[in-house]
Amino acid sequence: MKKLLNYIDGELVPPINKLYLENLSPTNGEVYSLVPDSNSQDVKLAMGAARKAFKNWSEQKKEYRYNWMMKLAKAIDEHSKKLIIAESYDNGKPEWLAEQVDIPRCSANIRFFATAMLHFDSKCYDMGNDGLNYTLKHPIGVAGCISPWNLPLYLLTWKIAPAIATGNTVVAKPSEITPYTAYLFSEICKKINFPKGVINIVHGKGVSAGAAVVEYADVVSFTGGTETGKVVATSAAKEFKKCSLELGGKNPTVVFSDCNFNSTIDVAVKSAFLNQGQICLCGSRLFIEKKIYSKFKSAFLKKLKNLRVGDPKNPKNNLGAIVSYDHLEKIISIIELAKKDGGKVLFGGKRLFLKKTLKQGYYLSPTVIEGLSYKHIVNQEEIFGPVVTLIPFEGEKDLIKMCNSTKYGLSASVFSENISKAHRVAAKIDAGLVWINTWLLRDLRVPFGGVKQSGLGREGGFYSLDFFTESKNACVKIEN
Ligand code: NAD
Repeated sequence: MKKLLNYIDGELVPPINKLYLENLSPTNGEVYSLVPDSNSQDVKLAMGAARKAFKNWSEQKKEYRYNWMMKLAKAIDEHSKKLIIAESYDNGKPEWLAEQVDIPRCSANIRFFATAMLHFDSKCYDMGNDGLNYTLKHPIGVAGCISPWNLPLYLLTWKIAPAIATGNTVVAKPSEITPYTAYLFSEICKKINFPKGVINIVHGKGVSAGAAVVEYADVVSFTGGTETGKVVATSAAKEFKKCSLELGGKNPTVVFSDCNFNSTIDVAVKSAFLNQGQICLCGSRLFIEKKIYSKFKSAFLKKLKNLRVGDPKNPKNNLGAIVSYDHLEKIISIIELAKKDGGKVLFGGKRLFLKKTLKQGYYLSPTVIEGLSYKHIVNQEEIFGPVVTLIPFEGEKDLIKMCNSTKYGLSASVFSENISKAHRVAAKIDAGLVWINTWLLRDLRVPFGGVKQSGLGREGGFYSLDFFTESKNACVKIEN
């Protein structure tokens, strides 16, 4: 059985306590590797390496860091085939999705922030004859980067890249449920002799390794569930550590009767079910204007008949496996709750058992539910699976009230050919990101993050570079 290793001070090392967790592939339910069950001792070791490396890394010219990051991005591209296969097997997502989205985004993240840093500037505040202020942007120290299982290496590199571009060093803790590509990434770092101690990766559970990363890091970037985010924020607050939190969502997709019908159907299906509905930005509440409710529902359901769930290796399959047995059980229990409380399952709702080697895998049919109040828990809490609820609305006021009724506020999509109306509604929805007539169209420069309990702070472009630096104002008195 393959034993994964931590990556500390440029070396691949076992956990100090020699304990491991089982790592299963959701595609077939088989344990196929062992993940270090690291604790605070390993994290302390990694922090020590990161602190030692900080002086040299942070004092180098930014072009030096740029060159190393571009080398790393190139090496990721050279190993992309292996990373794609591993990401799909570890997470359950279709290989085509890992090939089109996840893995290209890892090297893109690194290139994007390496080059962004070359253009990162600071402000000057001119006081005329009295003086001049200018802002210095210093790296903070060791960045703790903690990521979830849904976009494993994609989100890990989204944090590591801006942290190191700005001169910080990193201790990263990937999800213990999908650790494999982070391990391969550390092998790549070692292979290209990436400067020792700049990137350290410690595997393990959130309550042990994750909590220690938050405790010992100087700045924390966390992506995960809202409840975990509260624990992370509470711990970071004890020392007033800068903390970026990207948390859960319950995102509305809004369909007005004057939408471009066919393209809206396509996007609404994609938004509900891409990556088995396990993207924080997925539209899980589908609000449809009453006038077209029946017509839209029929067309939406018809489209689902063409969606194939199956072997993630088969490029013809749209959906792969749910990430873990526990998560599958959780999603099914929510579907059962919906049924118990009068929700009507219009499509799916059941675990699927594939044949032969995949028969123990965690597959679930895309599921559509209608008939529940917008206040029902199923319409209030994040499910994070291939489940969408349909809710009719009449008028903008009614719609906004329902959209904004949850504790979340991550993203939304609005579909209407009336751009003034779409803009009006977009402005009123509680969300950090709103798409109009599209979904998941991403520009890495834009502010990314949520409002309410979907998070704190913004990532992306210069927002990330600002987050990983401290602004210091220098004021010069001018003698006249
Ligand atoms: P999770 O909160 O269970 O775990 C996320 C990470 O935090 C994991 O690495 C975990 O080990 C670690 N962790 C757990 N407890 C910890 C603790 N006490 N201290 C420090 N670290 C700890 O989330 P998950 O189930 O892996 O991911 C799914 C969630 O992530 C969903 O809620 C989803 O919406 C959210 N998410 C948000 C975004 C975003 O950008 N807003 C993106 C992707 C996923």
